[in-house]
Amino acid sequence: MLGLMQNQPLLISGLIQHAERHHGDAEIVSRRVEGDLHRSSWAQVARRSRQVAHALDATNLLFSDRVATLAWNGYRHLELYFGVSGSGRVLHTINPRLHPDQIAWIANHAEDQVLCFDLTFLPLVQAVHARCPQIRRYVALCEPDKLPRDSGVPNLVSYEDWIGGQPTTYDWPTFDENSASSMCYTSGTTGNPKAALYSHRSTTLHAYAAALPDVMALSARDAVLPVVPMFHVNAWGIPYSAALTGCKLVFPGPAMDGKSIYELIEAEKVSYAAGVPTVWQMLLGHMKPNNLRFSTLKRTVIGGSACPPAMITAFNDDYGVEVLHAWGMTEMSPLGTLCTLKNRHLELPPEEKMKIRLKQGRAIYGVDMKIVSDDGQELPWDGKTYGNLYVKGPWIVREYFKGEGGDPLVDGWFPTGDVATIDAEGYMQITDRSKDVIKSGGEWISSIDVENIAVAHPAVAMAACIGMKHPKWDERPVVAVVKKPGAQVTREELLKFYEGKTAKWQIPDDVIFVDAIPLGATGKMLKTRLREQLKDYKLPNS
Ligand code: ADP
Repeated sequence: MLGLMQNQPLLISGLIQHAERHHGDAEIVSRRVEGDLHRSSWAQVARRSRQVAHALDATNLLFSDRVATLAWNGYRHLELYFGVSGSGRVLHTINPRLHPDQIAWIANHAEDQVLCFDLTFLPLVQAVHARCPQIRRYVALCEPDKLPRDSGVPNLVSYEDWIGGQPTTYDWPTFDENSASSMCYTSGTTGNPKAALYSHRSTTLHAYAAALPDVMALSARDAVLPVVPMFHVNAWGIPYSAALTGCKLVFPGPAMDGKSIYELIEAEKVSYAAGVPTVWQMLLGHMKPNNLRFSTLKRTVIGGSACPPAMITAFNDDYGVEVLHAWGMTEMSPLGTLCTLKNRHLELPPEEKMKIRLKQGRAIYGVDMKIVSDDGQELPWDGKTYGNLYVKGPWIVREYFKGEGGDPLVDGWFPTGDVATIDAEGYMQITDRSKDVIKSGGEWISSIDVENIAVAHPAVAMAACIGMKHPKWDERPVVAVVKKPGAQVTREELLKFYEGKTAKWQIPDDVIFVDAIPLGATGKMLKTRLREQLKDYKLPNS
């Protein structure tokens, strides 16, 4: 017997309709490429997303055709999120930090028909358009008078011209909720990038789950600043969860330095922010020397890389901001786990609480996880045993776009490539990417643990730990360190700093001071490149 409830497909158009009807006046504030602050609302975003849908019809785009963006976080990008997917096309957010060769490759692989771009990225578009013959229309996200002359880009129109004359009403089509809605390529540090192809159903379910109180806890009362880019797994799904809850959105545009972010938080009374640790490093680096305080910020989600304890402490103790440590990946839409304390943890002493906060957290309902040994045996949840982390759920990839890379699943589970422990209460902690694990004398050393201790030193801005070949121990850890501007620390002082904080054999063998640690397109440390840079390095006493 089937249930007798209405069978309404979960479509992205439903989110924007809800936001318009119930939260039409909630603000959407964007710092633009021009530097000014633009003010819009959910009602205006909804109206203009309908104009986008008409413009796509007028460009003769078919159902499931791909529309690419090379754009910062802003209101026009948000309108495209809803106009493109709502009308049945697929939004392909391209990471502009990729190399032009990779951008041309993925635009061709995705068979993008239209490319919408912020003017910042005109040089990129000029570099790739001749290699992307299938792109029929280029749309510069600007007013007509800002449209560059003699750019050489064919079929170029300004966004405001493109949507301007279109009707503001549109009948959003109804279709199968499993239809594709958006796509995002993994950064492809090895081999060609592969695309996760999200559906209306997976995106809507993720939006519900992300908004829950023990997940991102979004509400209509929040003013949310997604510093995480909209080209980075749909800004962790925040645009969709924001439409569902009706919160105010504040977009930073291209200005992600500490000063600009701080000023935006204060001016727009931001209560909630989300981003990767490197961004918060810049913010804290600006606030401390200038003796600044937050007047409205209450919570911040930090993920994408491990959040160092020093950052959790600084936000919590110095600024009264709760850190929500999150873990996920492009293949997971992206949220998998989020760290919030349970009631009984609130009574724990601060150092015990910190041990929990450092973990990547509990699985969100909808995500199943397990850890397995290299031969596929499921491992115990004891908080100590390391294993390969596998996940499954309705917003986790089943297959990459065009079957790239073959079947990624193992018995229905997606191997994340991360190594983790899970404790008896279900709190998961990432120790490494499997390719970054350091194997020393038959034991594993967590590079994240080694890095966390280094960045707790007041003179250290950033640290990356890698394994170096050792004749006796197989590998030994060394830590590459970037000092804070003007700060001093010696190799010996830093090695001494490790004493008592970790087991002796886990203390790195050496400290290498570097000017910068190479970062990938999503702000993560590129250890492959660091290893190349240090290929002539020899361990002391090896
Ligand atoms: P995203 O684009 O969401 O950053 P990627 O697919 O580029 O996702 O990278 C996902 C990987 O980033 C994860 O598999 C994990 O190795 C790492 N990662 C994400 N969040 C965290 C976290 N909180 N702590 C440690 N590593 C993390």
